[in-house]
Amino acid sequence: MKVRVRYAPSPTGLLHIGNARTAIFNYLYAKSHDGDFIIRIEDTDIKRNVVGGEQSQLSNLSWLGLDWDESPDKGGAYGPYRQLERLDLYKEYALKLLEMGYAYKEYKEGSTKFAIRFRVPENKEYVFNDLVRGTLRFQSKEVEDWIMVKDNGIPTYNFAVVIDDHLMAITHVLRGEEHITNTPKQMMVYEAFGWDIPTFGHMTIIVNEKKKKLSKRDHSIVQFIQQYRELGYLPEALLNFIALLGWSPSINQEILSLEEIIQNFDSSRLSKAPAMFDVQKLAYINKEYIKKMSHEDFVELCTPHLEKANIDVANKEWVSDLCSLLHDRTVYGAQIVELHHEFFHQAFVVEDEAIEFLKQEPNALNVIKAFKEGLTQSDFSANAIKDLIKEVGKGLEVKGKSLFMPCRIATTGILHGPDLPKSLSLLGKELVLDRIEKTLELMENF
Ligand code: GLU
Repeated sequence: MKVRVRYAPSPTGLLHIGNARTAIFNYLYAKSHDGDFIIRIEDTDIKRNVVGGEQSQLSNLSWLGLDWDESPDKGGAYGPYRQLERLDLYKEYALKLLEMGYAYKEYKEGSTKFAIRFRVPENKEYVFNDLVRGTLRFQSKEVEDWIMVKDNGIPTYNFAVVIDDHLMAITHVLRGEEHITNTPKQMMVYEAFGWDIPTFGHMTIIVNEKKKKLSKRDHSIVQFIQQYRELGYLPEALLNFIALLGWSPSINQEILSLEEIIQNFDSSRLSKAPAMFDVQKLAYINKEYIKKMSHEDFVELCTPHLEKANIDVANKEWVSDLCSLLHDRTVYGAQIVELHHEFFHQAFVVEDEAIEFLKQEPNALNVIKAFKEGLTQSDFSANAIKDLIKEVGKGLEVKGKSLFMPCRIATTGILHGPDLPKSLSLLGKELVLDRIEKTLELMENF
C-alpha cells in the first residue's frame, strides 16, 4: 500500500518551530518510503483562524525546502483540502453514525439546534502501537461521550480528522504528543465504520535548556520560522537543525543536506525523550552553512540587512570587502550589522598581550613609524597597504612576526584578527592614523 502522510495545521498563526518539525518529519517519512505528502488545513475552529494563517504556513514550509503532493493550493484527487469546504461530508458521516446508534443528538435547551455526541462503548480497551512510544493502552471508561458535531453544524477536530484521514487514504499519522489522548476517541470512529486504522506516531515535546516545554511566550528562544527568515538564517540550516529535534541519524554526522536526511531517515530512531532546543547548536549549524556559501551569495544575504540598518550600500566594492572580512564570523545574516558596528565603532584599546609583545620586540617602534609614514602617502587600497608592509620590512630588514605584529597591534590593538590590509582599507586613513598615534603615545611610557 502506498504510504500517505499529512501535515494538518490549523491556520491560527505563524508557522511555529514545533509545527515545522511535525511537517518535516511527515515529509521525511513520505520521501523515505516513496510516499505522498499531503497538506490539509484544519480550519474548523473559526474563532481562532487568522487572516493569512494558511498562506504563512505554506510559504514558510516551502522556504524550508519542503514540497508536497496535494494541498489546498495544489489540489489533488482527494480534495477539497480545507475542512470548512468539507462540511457536507462530515454531515453525511455523522448521520450514518446516528443511524447506526454510535452517536446521539443532544438538544440545546429550548431550541431545535442540537449537537451530536459519540456514544463511548463500555468497558473497552483501546490499544495501539505508537511508532515512537510503542504500545499504548486506554480504557473507554476514562473517556466520556464526546461532541462530534457542535450545534452550529461544525464538526470537532476528533471527528473531522478521522473522516478526512480515512477518505484521503492516510496510512501514517505523525503528530505532536498532545494528541495522544485524542487517539482513542479517533479509534472509536474508525471502529464504528469498520475502517482500517492508520499507524500513529506521536513526537515528543520540545523543551528549552531548563527542560521546560517551549511556550510561545518564552522570549529566550525565537520560535517562528518567519522570524528566522527575517534574521537571515539559511533555510537548509534551519531544516537540518529541526530534523535533529527528536531524531538522530545512525551515522555520526550533524551537518546534513535534505538529501542526506532523507537517505538516513528512519522512524525507529525518533526519540522518546523530549527534544532539547539547543540555541548554541542552531548557531553552530547555521554558521557552518554560512561558511560554505559563496562570497556572492553571502553579499546577497547581508546587503538587505545593512540597508535596513541605514548603512550605505551604494559602494558595491566596499560592501564586498566588508562581507569578505566578516564572512567567517557571521552566524546569521542580520548579525552583519552588529559585526559592522563592532568593527567600526569599537573603542581602540591595545590588549595586554599586545603591549607585552611591543615591549619585547626591538624593531616595533621603527616598524610602526615607517608604516605610519607610508600610510600617510597611501591610497589605502588593501593591495597598496599589503605592498607597503613588505616595503617597510625590506627597508628595515625586518620580517615575519617582528614586522607584521607591530603593524597589526598599532592599528587594531590585538594580536589576532581578520586580514589586516583589508581591515585597514575598510577602516580608512583617518581612523587608522589616529590609532597609530595613540599607540605611539602609549609606547613613549614603556
Ligand atoms: N490540526 C491539528 C493540530 O494542529 C492536527 C492534529 C493531527 O495531526 O491530527 O494540532
